[in-house]
Amino acid sequence: MTSIAYLSLGSNQGEPFVNLKEAISQLQRTEGVQVTRVSSIYETDPVGVTEQNAFLNLAAEIETGKKPEELLDLCQRIEDKLGRKRLVRWGPRTIDLDILLFNADMIQSDRLTIPHPRMHERSFVLIPLLEISPDVVYPGLKKSLKQQQQTLPDQAGVRLWKKNYSLLLEELL
Ligand code: ATP
Ligand code: MG
Ligand code: MG
Repeated sequence: MTSIAYLSLGSNQGEPFVNLKEAISQLQRTEGVQVTRVSSIYETDPVGVTEQNAFLNLAAEIETGKKPEELLDLCQRIEDKLGRKRLVRWGPRTIDLDILLFNADMIQSDRLTIPHPRMHERSFVLIPLLEISPDVVYPGLKKSLKQQQQTLPDQAGVRLWKKNYSLLLEELL
């Protein structure tokens, strides 16, 4: 069965643009994964640990025959390949690949929580996500994600960096 999942990608170490590009291209090259939409790239102020470089963030929609845990394995393999070190929680990283939504599933296991439990507090996640899927539904949330995003205090920290990045997809993949 094919599922639709939304991912959030972020990088603030090494060459963030190259890291994002490489991560998307690795997703696309994986059997059983089709990257169907990619947002613009946003430059975002760090949240949580603020003494670090700004991030580049984007959101991607994929179609996949994988199960959620298999998709997490894939995300972590790509993080490892791109040299992710797990040193400081919310600290600098070459790449972070988080699963935001998987169909309208709600999943809770040792390794995986879907919807991503902090996505609705983060403009750096929601602004790119809503760009590619304005009406996407967060199961269990009463308001729309758009309404939710408008209440967040961190919107000013999210700036468009490369518009219509998805138009470059063909060149990229
Ligand atoms: P945050 O989750 O707040 O964005 P982070 O992305 O920096 O923080 P990581 O170090 O990338 O956190 O991941 C920590 C653990 O989170 C992973 O080992 C993974 O098992 C778990 N995890 C739980 N739910 C998810 C999810 N939806 N997507 C990705 N990882 C998840
Ligand atoms: Mg994360
Ligand atoms: Mg993560």
